[in-house]
Amino acid sequence: MQAAHISFNLELKHPFSIAGFTRTSTPLLLLKLTYENMEGYGEASMVPYLGESYSTAESFLKKVDWMHFKHPFNFAEVTSYLNSLDAGNSAVKAAIDIALNDINGKILQKPCFEIYQADPAKMPVTSYTIGIDKPEIIKEKVAGAKDFKVLKIKLGSANDKELINTIRTVSNLPLYVDANQGWTDRKMAIDLIYWLHDQGVVLIEQPMDKKDIDGNAWLTGRSPIPILADEAVQGLGDIDNIKGAYHGINVKLMKSGGMYEAHQMILKARSYGMKVMIGCMSETSVATQAGLALAPLCDWVDLDGPFLTKNNPFEQPAFAHGRYLLKDLPGLGLKGLLPNLFRP
Ligand code: MG
Repeated sequence: MQAAHISFNLELKHPFSIAGFTRTSTPLLLLKLTYENMEGYGEASMVPYLGESYSTAESFLKKVDWMHFKHPFNFAEVTSYLNSLDAGNSAVKAAIDIALNDINGKILQKPCFEIYQADPAKMPVTSYTIGIDKPEIIKEKVAGAKDFKVLKIKLGSANDKELINTIRTVSNLPLYVDANQGWTDRKMAIDLIYWLHDQGVVLIEQPMDKKDIDGNAWLTGRSPIPILADEAVQGLGDIDNIKGAYHGINVKLMKSGGMYEAHQMILKARSYGMKVMIGCMSETSVATQAGLALAPLCDWVDLDGPFLTKNNPFEQPAFAHGRYLLKDLPGLGLKGLLPNLFRP
């Protein structure tokens, strides 16, 4: 196994604001693994609040003995090997897991979605995220989202109702709401949730602080629409801590450390009767295709990374009428890599 990696700055189409901060680009590490002439691609998207950077990712990669990986890959063992090298570092672990999954599919000559027994016909529509912004910019963003059947709105600031009212002047689409822990008063939050429900909001992500299990559970017990944990659930081990406090979880490959553990999270949440959304960070087609391989196993899909960014170095994933299309191609099914991307 040979490994090559590059630093890549993924630029956003619009500066992205959620409750707490704004950013205009996201640092990535793109990984290429080569095994017996098969190439596999991986991606670490390092949004600042998760604490990883290109340099932490690069130092993690130095600890990896690539000779350790021999096909057939045992992904449970791969995950425990990577975890034995260092805790945390979930984005760079995801890059390795995704690249190995890509190679695995190419060796088996099967798409990753088929290996994970995900049926392309069950692909949910994907949402398109609208960040917090001025009313005129919000209207512009909604107008640019014509191909989507559902919008995801970032709330958690002082003018949540105003923002929804602005959207409703230009769109009647169903809405997902992500409060990103922005609500602090549970009584105000439940009133707002009922109001949002009347406005066509169909689910709420992470309404209150991730540490406030009681507050979030109180809302879950009273909400007319599903309440999902995002920041409160990183990996498989967190599901037991929040069981009962939410209707469901938002699984992301950059939190779980890749496809294998994300799949385990989906199975565990299902065994507890919980709903599942698959989400993303700012990502290229690499991590998006990896998420899409699991997406038909989920209730909701929020994999809009390639639509929110402007310099994706791969071909955009196939998409029509609000949902992604899975193609019968081995591995992740990536196409159109920029030539010379990995050349030093
Ligand atoms: Mg979220």
